[in-house]
Amino acid sequence: MDKLFDAIRNGRLSHAYIIEGDALSGKYETAKRAAKAVLCEEAPGEGCGRCVICQKVEHENYEDVYHVSADESSLKDAVIAELQENLRHKPSAGDRNIAIIEDADTMTVRAQNRFLKTLEEPNPGTVIFLLSENRDNLLPTIRSRCVTYRMPAVYDEDNPYVELAADLLAKAENGGYFCDIKDALDKKIKDRKSAMAFLDAAELLLMRYFTGREKSMWSPEHIREVVGFVEEARRDLNFNVNYKYALRNMLLKAGM
Ligand SMILES: [Zn+2]
Repeated sequence: MDKLFDAIRNGRLSHAYIIEGDALSGKYETAKRAAKAVLCEEAPGEGCGRCVICQKVEHENYEDVYHVSADESSLKDAVIAELQENLRHKPSAGDRNIAIIEDADTMTVRAQNRFLKTLEEPNPGTVIFLLSENRDNLLPTIRSRCVTYRMPAVYDEDNPYVELAADLLAKAENGGYFCDIKDALDKKIKDRKSAMAFLDAAELLLMRYFTGREKSMWSPEHIREVVGFVEEARRDLNFNVNYKYALRNMLLKAGM
């Protein structure tokens, strides 16, 4: 996903993206993060998470971000038609319209063909995120007009970073001491890349806690808060903050 955010930061934004990954991979969260990165004026290319724009995107009430998803079975043609109509209008708050299309691969062929028009001639400033479990379910003509990002592999408990994250989160839940947790982290994390992998794994695990797939003693509110700290640490790394400092900061904020 780094590549997507690098592109946004560097102003090399395409008008259409496919974000591909399975159900637990956090595609929607990623699209929302990307929308913030595109729209935020406090931290352009990043999203500060605090300004009015970021808050509105987070709570899905920013005027120019259109979010559609499937009903119980598929994404309805009428929903796509309405979205296309919305994207034809000028943005009302800023200078961009953003569409987040969940379950894009459940669009009918008819709807996909119709949507091609929007992909071929989007209004200036339009950014479209098609979220898909498998991009092969989208028409080749759609795929060829989008930049695809594949979400990182989903939860694998044998992944060493997932193991480390599980171990440290268990320690933290049980009231472990900051210095113990920090020492364990220091032993395994030796550079920025491994720090990033650890943060990805920690977030993956926290999302499993959040959705109840994994048992946790923490409340959903606290888990959400900690996810926020993990995201901040990731943002720090993207801003080339020293990885040790970023991780230490995260632990302190999380009260570990
Ligand atoms: Zn912001």
